[in-house]
Amino acid sequence: MDTAISLTASPQACSVCSQLADRETAYQKFGWEENDTYLPAASGALVIVRDFKPYSSRKLQLRRCPECGTYYLYSSDYEYLVNGSEDEETLERLTAERAAELLQTPASDGA
Ligand SMILES: [Zn+2]
Repeated sequence: MDTAISLTASPQACSVCSQLADRETAYQKFGWEENDTYLPAASGALVIVRDFKPYSSRKLQLRRCPECGTYYLYSSDYEYLVNGSEDEETLERLTAERAAELLQTPASDGA
């Protein structure tokens, strides 16, 4: 509950990161396309640094901005439902500290 310390470099100065919020979510549901949301186009510029679940349809990836080096955690979830499958994506901006932690995590075998 004390003063928050910002560890990130100013993402506002970057042409990629300035278009991404600290946390972006997108949600698509089959049969309900009019309500679908997508991640901002700028998210496509991020480079995958680490793929933690290469064999899974539920993704967990460490991504990095090629311009300023800010790390992001991308995850997706997929749910098969009788009334229409659901797809959910999350893109979260990481502090340098959190990114370093993830980089030390060994990649899983998809288990
Ligand atoms: Zn950036």
